[in-house]
Amino acid sequence: MKSPIDWKITARDGEARSGLLRTRRSEIETPVFMPVGTQGALKGVRFEWLEDEMDARIILANTYHLFLRPGVEIIRDMGGLHRFSSWNRSLLTDSGGFQVFSLTDLRKLTEDGVDFRSHIDGTKYFLSPEVSMEIQAALGSDIVMVFDECPPGDAGFDATRKSLELTARWARRSKERFHQLQSDGADTGRRIGFEEDKRQALFGIVQGAGHLDLRDESLARTVEIGFDGYAIGGLSVGEEKSVMYEVLDHLAPKMPDDAPRYLMGVGTPEDLIEGVNCGVDMFDCVIPTRNGRTGSAFTSRGKLNIRNAKFARNDGPLDPDCPCSVCRRYSLGYLRHLYQVGEMNAAILISHHNVAFFLETMRKVRSAIRAGEFQEFRRRFLAGLKENGAESV
Ligand SMILES: [Zn+2]
Repeated sequence: MKSPIDWKITARDGEARSGLLRTRRSEIETPVFMPVGTQGALKGVRFEWLEDEMDARIILANTYHLFLRPGVEIIRDMGGLHRFSSWNRSLLTDSGGFQVFSLTDLRKLTEDGVDFRSHIDGTKYFLSPEVSMEIQAALGSDIVMVFDECPPGDAGFDATRKSLELTARWARRSKERFHQLQSDGADTGRRIGFEEDKRQALFGIVQGAGHLDLRDESLARTVEIGFDGYAIGGLSVGEEKSVMYEVLDHLAPKMPDDAPRYLMGVGTPEDLIEGVNCGVDMFDCVIPTRNGRTGSAFTSRGKLNIRNAKFARNDGPLDPDCPCSVCRRYSLGYLRHLYQVGEMNAAILISHHNVAFFLETMRKVRSAIRAGEFQEFRRRFLAGLKENGAESV
């Protein structure tokens, strides 16, 4: 079977790298930010906008949420998540582990997997490496994540070591079941008869919390098993920001050079820049849409809170440097008015701008790397974020 992804680094600037990742569905320029479509949709942002205006090539969907509703059978009967949702570019699915481990009171962990109760109605479910691979095959995503255990950010050394050993055993089980499912034809996303008739890609996950030696150990074990790409898990889970940057600085450059590196669930515009600076290629985070719904906008001058009374008579855009259709058309004063009266367009328009801003930032990052000007870009970008100062929400 053909290799599921093509990966090529096209430019380097220090540890930062720019590349081309080709899945069976789309060509993705990296570093890339992947907007999160938790329920198979980006909250408040239509696929038409993502495709036509923002040119997003890959989005993420959450296994846990789709497993509970509408459930695997319905998605399989509807032909997989691409057909069901009409999103025909690349899809990455997480393993469901992260959400399940967040349900601290509702779950029971064993070597086999996790028993948990749905956060919606308390129904009992079981998730394991095998079950997660089965769900992700039914979803038919183009990039599948192994099922891992994510310890809390402040986990002690012994607890973290125990956890990463379990994660390594689960990674092996994930890979074994994954390949069985591929040969059984369980992957609904295969494009039979197309040139890109390839299997799903499978990424491994490096854990180890804030312990650098355990990060090294987890990396060695994950690489030994062998995956199509490698992710950094267990960051931005409550640890200090300095710990996250220390882990990134230590770990990312040591990850295989000939595979994409993915930092899971991170982060703010500043985090993206710092991740790229350490050699990370892929990011995802819910904050552009989550903040959009609460009236918080990311801009090149830092965050701004649309509720602020000082915007009432401001006829300028959210961000004068943003080329998105919201910034070209609507004023801060009008957006503030929509938010204050509870008009749903406020959440829709601010979410739209936020996602566009994240994607545009990564476009600028890529061209700075290609031009060999990433350090200058990083300095200017980070300084710009401080302009709004006390405006930070
Ligand atoms: Zn904008």
